[in-house]
Amino acid sequence: MSQQADFKKLIAHCKEYGFIYQSSEVYDGLSAVYDYGPYGVELKNNLKSYWWKSMVQMNDNIVGLDSAIFMHPKTWKASGHVDAFNDPLVDNKDSKKRYRADVLIEDYMAKIEAKINKDVVKAKKRFGDAFDEKQFRETNGRIIERQKNIDAIAARLAKAMTDGDMADLKAQLEEYGIACEVSGSKNWTEVRQFNLMFSTQLGNIAGEEGKLYLRPETAQGIFVNYLNVQKSTRQKLPFGIAQIGKAFRNEITARQFIFRMREFEQMEMQFFIRPGTQKEWYAHWKESRMNWHKAIGHPETKLRFHDHDNLAHYADAAVDIQFDFPFGFKELEGIHSRTDFDLGAHQELSGKKLQYFDPELNENYVPYVVETSIGADRMFLATMSHALIEEQVPGSDDPNNKRDVLKLHPALAPIKCAILPLKKNDERLVAKAKDVYKKLSLSFNVQYDDTGSIGKLYRRQDAIGTPFCVTVDFEALDDDTVTIRERDTLNQERVSIDKLEGIIRDKVDMKQLFV
Ligand code: ATP
Repeated sequence: MSQQADFKKLIAHCKEYGFIYQSSEVYDGLSAVYDYGPYGVELKNNLKSYWWKSMVQMNDNIVGLDSAIFMHPKTWKASGHVDAFNDPLVDNKDSKKRYRADVLIEDYMAKIEAKINKDVVKAKKRFGDAFDEKQFRETNGRIIERQKNIDAIAARLAKAMTDGDMADLKAQLEEYGIACEVSGSKNWTEVRQFNLMFSTQLGNIAGEEGKLYLRPETAQGIFVNYLNVQKSTRQKLPFGIAQIGKAFRNEITARQFIFRMREFEQMEMQFFIRPGTQKEWYAHWKESRMNWHKAIGHPETKLRFHDHDNLAHYADAAVDIQFDFPFGFKELEGIHSRTDFDLGAHQELSGKKLQYFDPELNENYVPYVVETSIGADRMFLATMSHALIEEQVPGSDDPNNKRDVLKLHPALAPIKCAILPLKKNDERLVAKAKDVYKKLSLSFNVQYDDTGSIGKLYRRQDAIGTPFCVTVDFEALDDDTVTIRERDTLNQERVSIDKLEGIIRDKVDMKQLFV
């Protein structure tokens, strides 16, 4: 299946099985805003919980926070968001469609990269086992030329973005002959800066004074609270503050499902450190965050680091962890060395000292910060896209006997176990199955289902990623045993009802992600 077809299938699956719906669908939807359905909210909560545990619970020098979405408007002046949180906007005059000029140029580079990859695949086929990809890439004339071209475009794009040079972005669109995907024309407006913050108005104050912003990142709530937290928890540097919460950005191009939304959720951690130690902490968090991603079973081949070519206004070093989404490698998480930019700016604009007294150095200073920032929704998309698989049913000889299965790590699965009576119109079976359900529901998120044949019920549970199905049959009435079926292998085992909780607990415990 093509990547495009895979992605369409994933989106349809998310809707059909209650993971994600378009917001306000009855009114034809609101672009780039989505709602999480019954299984979606469970999976998202589990991902957030995995993050929170790994940050707050497993580091005695990281604590949690839940700051408000609204903040004093000066916050966003100090942080640079009022003046510099812009994307370069360009309209196609014929289709009236809006684009980010930098994204158009990035897509153009991706097309060249796709050509390179096509050549590599062809050569692989031709040379078979003897093929040395690295050598081929380094010596093939056409590939070298194309790679040089990509590098030159990337460098020029980075410079134009850093300098805010809108005229050069427009010149690049023209030079590369980039056309609108809708109208096919190259009839572009000038490129201009577009601020991504949503604003609203305080009810009782008119004009600029009462202008409030919906936070575009959760980090600033951490910065302005860092001394409160440090004092009330008596933390010494280095220490971190972690927060999960909503953020809002008026994104120009709303594409790729929940990858780029206007309302989304971030999981951010600001790590406060002594100035001069940022390099080692940056390296530490880079490694630590990459390991976190691998621990839930995302393979190394789907993850990579990507250094920023143009640094944001607050950073002295920045790297993305990219994931191989159904539409290619894109940013999943950012790790930024933010220096003392934010705390320094808040100190200056508020006139309040935000210094830390270092008892070891006997000195006051504004700490430096290394930040890790990941979108909960992008993590959700990465996890779903890796987990959803169409496969031949294990044990079947028939290649047409297929199933869709969501191979989520059991600790992340929305439902841990489904309890299914073999027959729905046998009162004794139903009562027994409901009994098992009641018992297990004290410990896990379990589901009772008798709405179809056992085969259909199994398929449904596979599609939502349930690691275990328990079938209650007539034998259960005599000896209190049931069969437990494992999602991935389809192995079935007869076990006593008393043992169920232990068997399931062992596999679905979040602890499994950390061992
Ligand atoms: P991009 O370059 O893709 O716009 P960014 O570099 O602006 O992302 P950051 O400001 O570093 O993103 O935000 C941190 C994280 O928040 C990102 O790695 C991403 O996971 C998430 N994120 C940012 N913008 C969005 C969005 N519009 N929708 C969903 N998640 C987002």
